[in-house]
Amino acid sequence: MTHTTTVHPGVPRRGSSLAGKAYWAMVRRVALTAAAIDAAYIVLFLVMGSVPLAAINIASIALYLAAYALIQRRRNTLGLALIWAEVVIHSALGSLLIGWESGFHYYLLLFIPAIVIANTRGYALPLVLGLLLYYLGLYALCDYLGPLTPLPERSVKIINAIHVCLIFGMSAALAQFYRRTILIAETRLLRQATLDPLTGLNNRSHFEALAANTLARSQRTGEPVAVMLCDIDHFKQVNDRYGHAVGDQALLHVARVLSANLRECDVLARWGGEEFLALMPAQAPDAAMAAAERIRAVLQSQPLDVEGTPTPLTLSFGVAQVHGSADLQAATARADQALYASKRTGRNRVSLG
Ligand code: GH3
Ligand code: MG
Ligand code: MG
Repeated sequence: MTHTTTVHPGVPRRGSSLAGKAYWAMVRRVALTAAAIDAAYIVLFLVMGSVPLAAINIASIALYLAAYALIQRRRNTLGLALIWAEVVIHSALGSLLIGWESGFHYYLLLFIPAIVIANTRGYALPLVLGLLLYYLGLYALCDYLGPLTPLPERSVKIINAIHVCLIFGMSAALAQFYRRTILIAETRLLRQATLDPLTGLNNRSHFEALAANTLARSQRTGEPVAVMLCDIDHFKQVNDRYGHAVGDQALLHVARVLSANLRECDVLARWGGEEFLALMPAQAPDAAMAAAERIRAVLQSQPLDVEGTPTPLTLSFGVAQVHGSADLQAATARADQALYASKRTGRNRVSLG
């Protein structure tokens, strides 16, 4: 069956910091990669006879390593500022020393997506405009001055081609990073929209969507469908006696027992505070009652461990048959009445509505 309960009790996904952490890990990787590339360039520049460019690269490596160390120590802003400064200065020095055609200025272009995507405080436009001015200014200056320490045309072309390759690689990596970030955010939003954060069970609205599908299919096949509503007995006492955190543990424990003892095709949800609802396709009322009875007995035999002390938890159940798609609400109300009867007649029992 396709419409399963998708239950992951105990592992509620957290992590508004996930994208942040991934971002800074990426920046650290960028700093290390850039330092390694600059080291390789030293050899190339020496072979081509440009001692000033090789010397600049030594300073660049030092800056990148300093940025890496700073971000490692969570001094993220300073670390990022060092990387920015390195790129801005290095691209200018390279362009001025061996000419615009060397392609050192390409690296400035990488800032455009980085600024627009990463900036959240409304500074993106002025920063991009500032970058444009800097870029055009550097272009004009290079054109006016000409290369300060010229290299043979062939060497400049080789350097340009290497820069083009690196820019292709870096742009692809950057796009890939943002794509992954968006996918992570999408997955997180979907979870938040469909699952209860504490238990990982379906929330009410997602349950209704899944139930509509299950009921439509059952209507086609003519199978009976049941709903099972259950509520933890004297749950308020658990909170009052042990605190809210233990109350949460109890909810998680019950969610685990429920999901472990229902079938894949059953649709389970946290219906309210300490109430759970399951839609059971291909289940006549008798079979649904038997399933509820089994779960009741399992929970009773598996008390919650509160710091080494077994603490009994029990559930009261109400079961009702669902007569077609339009009857879900009414059937849930009948299950609720039956649950109320279970409460009235002593709790820790199953009643049919
Ligand atoms: P009964 O046997 O009649 O169901 O009694 P009860 O104490 O279980 O029922 P009652 O409705 O009086 O109490 C429900 C309690 O559930 C009150 C509320 O504080 C608690 N609750 C609801 N949601 C949560 C939650 O997410 N975490 C915790 N710890 N408690 C919750
Ligand atoms: Mg209760
Ligand atoms: Mg209740």
